[in-house]
Order: sequence, then structure tokens, then C-alpha cells
Amino acid sequence: MKYLYLFALVALHPLTWAAQPSAPRALGAHPVVTLTFDDLPAAGSLPPNTDRTQILTKLADELRSNRLEGTYGFVNAVDLTGDADAQNALHIWLNSGMNIGNHTWSHVLLTESTVKAFEEEIAKDEPALESFAQVRDWRWFRYPALLEGESIYKRRAVLRYLAGHGYRVARVTLDFQDDEWNDPYARCVAQNDTAAIQWLKQSYMESAVEYIRAGREEQLIVFGHEIPNVLLLHATAFTTLMLPDLMTLLRREGFVFDGLAHVASDPIYTRELNAAFADDGTLTNLFMDAKNLKYPPVKPIPEERLKTICQ
Ligand SMILES: [Zn+2]
Repeated sequence: MKYLYLFALVALHPLTWAAQPSAPRALGAHPVVTLTFDDLPAAGSLPPNTDRTQILTKLADELRSNRLEGTYGFVNAVDLTGDADAQNALHIWLNSGMNIGNHTWSHVLLTESTVKAFEEEIAKDEPALESFAQVRDWRWFRYPALLEGESIYKRRAVLRYLAGHGYRVARVTLDFQDDEWNDPYARCVAQNDTAAIQWLKQSYMESAVEYIRAGREEQLIVFGHEIPNVLLLHATAFTTLMLPDLMTLLRREGFVFDGLAHVASDPIYTRELNAAFADDGTLTNLFMDAKNLKYPPVKPIPEERLKTICQ
């Protein structure tokens, strides 16, 4: 359908089409990025002999050693309930100089929820955020699965609610589905399968390279220039293990690091979008889809093998 539509557009309105940014121009030498971590304090399965405290301690240490204090982690407070390990892990995250934001109480998806129920989930997360973050600024919101609502009505209603409650939205521009590798990793550790773990590491980095490049190219296509980036990661055991390699990759690609507030102050992060989608996607994807633009080629993540490996 998309191709047909584009074909019709080209055939009927060659001038309109020619005026659109076409093939990607060169990527910049020094793109900007802020790292963000979702699903704290209990993202993904735990490998054997590991707990949440170990993971968030290691993750925060790695961020500190890269001078990335102030990094945001988005919390589902349901996972703190009655779990001393998870509570301790979140205290360590904050005591290490990291921040937290709202990711709804129980990771509810807006496309599967009413506006009212979704707003209640946002409010229900707040007492824990307030008690853990104390004076720090926790009024940042990350939509679970990046789903902002399948209708313009829902999308606008929740955005209005968030703005009315002092929230800024932590939108995402770069995403390689890092969390897809975690549960396979936990299984492969349980089986002590070192060859499989090696493949997981290699394919994770390949997908990171691929999707970070594609995400930047999409910006050239839809905005005509790159914008400061928010990279979506998850506070899983596997992403924690891979973070040093990921930092090396980002530095090699010329990335410079910045804070969420500064990155999200780029006007594109709050630009009005007169469209809504049932599927998940980055901020750039939303604008690409609203304009029916064609995506640059990308090698998909190895979903099938991730599902079956170490089963
Ligand atoms: Zn999430």
C-alpha cells in the first residue's frame, strides 16, 4: 500500500515529490546522544546467581566511569512491591547519581488501555518516584513500548494530562530492541553455552550498529538534518554486560553525550504531529509514517534465532 501511494504521489505531483528530502546525505561527524534505560528496577529475566542489586550497581558504575551521571531510568513501581532486592537496587541507582522517571505503575500499553486507566497508571507510579527520588526531578515520562496512542484523540488527551501534571515526555530516536537479547542470554548462561553467548554478543552489536545508523539516516530523510538523540536501552543483565562495548561503538561513531533535558529541548521533540499509530516506533518513525516516507534499508534483528537459542 505504501509503495502504491508513493507511486501515485510521484506520478501526480512530481514537484511535491522532488521537493522532499531524497537520498540520505552524509551523516554528521559528531551526533549527540543521551542514554536512557527502561523497566527499572526489574528489566527482563535474571540469569542464575544474579540479583537486581548486582545489575543496577554494575550499570550505574559503568555509567559513572563514563561520566554519565544524571542518566535517566524509567521505573515501573509495581516491581518494587515487597522486593527488598529491587528496592535496594533502585536506591543504589539514585545514590550513584542517576535519575528516575515515570514508565507507568505496571507497564500498561496505551493502545490496550483507556485514557482514564492510563492516567491512573501514571499517577499510581508517583508515590514511589517521589519517595525514591526525593528532591530530584522525576517528572519525565516514557511511554511503555513507545506507544503514544492509536488515535489522535487518545494521543492528545494523554499529552495534555502529562503537561498538566508537569511532565516532559522522554521520546526516543534510536532503538535497536536491546531487550530482545536478555532472556536468551539468561537461558544460555543457565546452560553454560559459551558459543551461544558469543553469538548473542556479536549479533547485539551488529544490530546496534545497523539500527543506530538507520535511525540517523531516517532523520536526514524526514527532517533534512540530524537531531540530538535519545537512545532507548533497558536495564537488563545483558545490556549491562554489553554497555562497555556499546560505549566504544558510540565513541567510534563520533557521538558526544548530553543530558536528557538538553537533548529533549530540541523543538522537534515537542513538534505537533497530526497523526496516530497503533504500532510502536521512535519519534522519527512517527514523522516518517505521518508523511508516508520510505525507510532506508536495515538488516532486521535476528528474532527467530533469539527465540529458539538455548531453548
Ligand atoms: Zn518498558
